[in-house]
Amino acid sequence: MPADYEVAIVGAGAAGLAAARALMDVGARFVLLEASGRTGGRAFTETTRFGQTWDLGCHWLHAADTNPFVPIADALGFRYRTTSTRLVRNLWLEGGWAAPEVANAAADAVDAAFDAVRAAGETGPDEPAQAVLDRAPAGQWADLVRHWFCLMTASPPPGISTRDFAAYRDTEFNWPVIDGYGALVRAHHAHVPVELDCPVTHIDWSGGGVRLATPRGEVRARTVIIAVPTAVLAQGRITFAPHLPVSLAEAFDALRLGVAEKVAIGFDRDVFGYDERTGVTVCRSGAATVNFQILPGERPVAIGHVAGPVAGALLEDGAGALADAVRSALTAAFGNDIAERVADVRATNWAGDPLIGGAYSCAVPGLAHLRARLLDTVGDRLLFAGEAARLHDFSTCHGAHLSGIDAAGRALRLARAAA
Ligand SMILES: Cc1cc2nc3c(=O)[nH]c(=O)nc-3n(C[C@H](O)[C@H](O)[C@H](O)COP(=O)(O)OP(=O)(O)OC[C@H]3O[C@@H](n4cnc5c(N)ncnc54)[C@H](O)[C@@H]3O)c2cc1C
Repeated sequence: MPADYEVAIVGAGAAGLAAARALMDVGARFVLLEASGRTGGRAFTETTRFGQTWDLGCHWLHAADTNPFVPIADALGFRYRTTSTRLVRNLWLEGGWAAPEVANAAADAVDAAFDAVRAAGETGPDEPAQAVLDRAPAGQWADLVRHWFCLMTASPPPGISTRDFAAYRDTEFNWPVIDGYGALVRAHHAHVPVELDCPVTHIDWSGGGVRLATPRGEVRARTVIIAVPTAVLAQGRITFAPHLPVSLAEAFDALRLGVAEKVAIGFDRDVFGYDERTGVTVCRSGAATVNFQILPGERPVAIGHVAGPVAGALLEDGAGALADAVRSALTAAFGNDIAERVADVRATNWAGDPLIGGAYSCAVPGLAHLRARLLDTVGDRLLFAGEAARLHDFSTCHGAHLSGIDAAGRALRLARAAA
């Protein structure tokens, strides 16, 4: 690695990659340092294991009508679906499939709860989403409502700021990437140079410029874009000299990453009988509620989604507990016979990955305003990027992408002003 750069970027997820590509396009001198052995971070597609692609992290093009990855997918020939399904489609409720009118009533209850929390966040104080749900109880759908808040924010309603929830701009166009969102992010940045297996452990920003400690020696740059998850920073996995301002430490802590995990289960033949991708929610009292994407294909795959404290507890129960819970939900709905046709199972553990530390950011009640602090530049040379550093499209892959591009422009201006 050459010794001196205008901009150093820490972390090659969607944000860091976008920053690097923006700098590459204008001929800036930069270096992109990634701790793990691959790029993409939470944008990660496995392409061969189940005989078809599946996304361990991001999968839906949220705000697809304005999402910059839609034209990128078109240019690269990546396929995506342009239908957004209702939240609850096929509902397994306790002992059987719910009638369509019951599933619709459940979906209406979830929509109404989202609307109520959004409205409260737009006009009222920054309070826990649970306070709103307590004022307008969802009755028999309370568990399902809680489950959907966990899926959307990775956090349970008592831990969700109403202001933060309302600040997210949902255009209601959410399109799944058939060929894999992670693969799309990777393909778009295929020519971006990156130093893999190169964790940054310390950033010295005393004096002029920055000095980054890595296993391959010190990297010097005029400015640095820190594009790692808030959890990594909150856990102090990168140290700083001088210390970062306390106001930033507060912000990392307030923008926690909740838990959202997936389990992919591959079968040796079709066991579902659907002829198109189908959404299924399995609700049983005393067991984790699980959402499934059922993907038909040569090797049928069911992808189970579990989020919030229930997912966290299953991870803590140790190896296999999350996968077992998801398999159990699937066999409850489709019958024990399908268990014999299981060919492969793969569970994520984003929360346990020390380089990530969770799923996506959600502001704790009362502290939604702290997101804006991640847009501050510290000492004219430290900038932050990533999904958490966005005011209206946080927690998304395209938000991370736009954050990286924005930080790249600001970092280069500062670097050149300091030259
Ligand atoms: C289960 C799940 C489902 C999701 N679904 C969707 C979805 O459908 N649609 C959507 O838009 N979004 C979704 N998301 C969120 C989306 O994936 C993220 O918001 C986005 O990918 C975050 O990008 P990022 O660049 O901010 O961070 P990351 O992708 O986390 O990248 C950070 C990078 O920093 C690296 N790093 C960490 N520490 C260091 C260090 N010390 N030195 C160097 N490098 C370091 C990490 O290895 C990582 O590569 C989902 C996420 C999860 C987990």
